[in-house]
Amino acid sequence: MRPDSQEIVVLGGGPAGGTAALFAARIGRQVTVLAGPPGGSLITGAAEIDNFPGLPHLSGPDFTANLLRQGAEAGAQILPATARSVEVENRYKIVTDDAGRHWPARALIVAVGTSPLKPAIPGLDRFWGKGVSFCAWCDGGFFRGRRVAVYGGGNTAFTSATILSRLAAEVHLLLPKRFGTAFHTLQREVAAAGNVRVRPGVRVLGVDGDGALRSLSLLVDQEPATLEVDGLFITLGQKPNTGFLQGRLDLSAGGFIRADAAGRTDLPGLFAAGDVVDGAFRQLVVACGAGATAALSAEQYLLQQWEPVLPRR
Ligand SMILES: Cc1cc2nc3c(=O)[nH]c(=O)nc-3n(C[C@H](O)[C@H](O)[C@H](O)COP(=O)(O)OP(=O)(O)OC[C@H]3O[C@@H](n4cnc5c(N)ncnc54)[C@H](O)[C@@H]3O)c2cc1C
Repeated sequence: MRPDSQEIVVLGGGPAGGTAALFAARIGRQVTVLAGPPGGSLITGAAEIDNFPGLPHLSGPDFTANLLRQGAEAGAQILPATARSVEVENRYKIVTDDAGRHWPARALIVAVGTSPLKPAIPGLDRFWGKGVSFCAWCDGGFFRGRRVAVYGGGNTAFTSATILSRLAAEVHLLLPKRFGTAFHTLQREVAAAGNVRVRPGVRVLGVDGDGALRSLSLLVDQEPATLEVDGLFITLGQKPNTGFLQGRLDLSAGGFIRADAAGRTDLPGLFAAGDVVDGAFRQLVVACGAGATAALSAEQYLLQQWEPVLPRR
């Protein structure tokens, strides 16, 4: 046994990683969490969460802070470190973090979530924080009484359009496809807002402005068009934060981790949970449940593979 090894290392300090850490620590395991950068969890962008069972009107940042505090009180060591690589040495998974520290783990739980997809629109980088944003919850208030566009067609796009409809004068919801793929309830909320114009079959080709964003160049049903807006919210989906795991694990074509219902991957002792898992429903309660499942699977693995019960004499 390596004396420097941790029983369980968790990568990610969001709902999945935080819940995994809480469960593993409550079982009595020695747990270290490399939680990534502060505010790195997607749920910190939710001003209000209304679908967490039994706890209405939660705020995303409060939820995350409470979860990590609960994990720390249960005994988990929670660090603001980011994993850069994972090596396998005998049965140990050795994580190297952004400060060059090594964390040998007997069991490793990967719950590093996803990041918003950034489209290749020429000039976009000039307007981050000057009209272009990923987060209506965080930045919507800057566009009170102004004109904004939301680019995307899923749950986040429709939710963003509803949030912005309460702040902005005009909201243009630009759907890349001919239809939206959001839950029906979210589509109904957009339909009920009087100031959201849904425009199907749109591609954003360019952005323009004089320091701040002023207009978008569009292709609408293959016809070029210009749309004057002060804000553009990009909600085109998520990509998994698994770059540091390439070649280590069975990943989907999109880079998501393939895991079974117990969170087991193709590498024994390495478990995955939350949005980073291929095919996962990307919702808070699902991520928490998957984190708990991964912790219990890791416990089972440690008992069976590292601490076999001795036969009775
Ligand atoms: C704006 C918004 C609002 C939402 N609102 C709701 C809602 O109301 N209800 C609902 O059910 N769902 C909601 N969701 C979805 C929900 O946020 C996600 O399903 C959930 O956060 C997934 O949890 P996770 O732990 O898998 O990933 P995340 O929450 O993304 O957490 C990933 C964690 O991993 C860390 N990390 C990343 N890379 C590394 C690395 N290399 N090393 C270590 N750590 C790393 C990050 O810093 C973060 O702590 C919302 C999503 C968005 C974008």
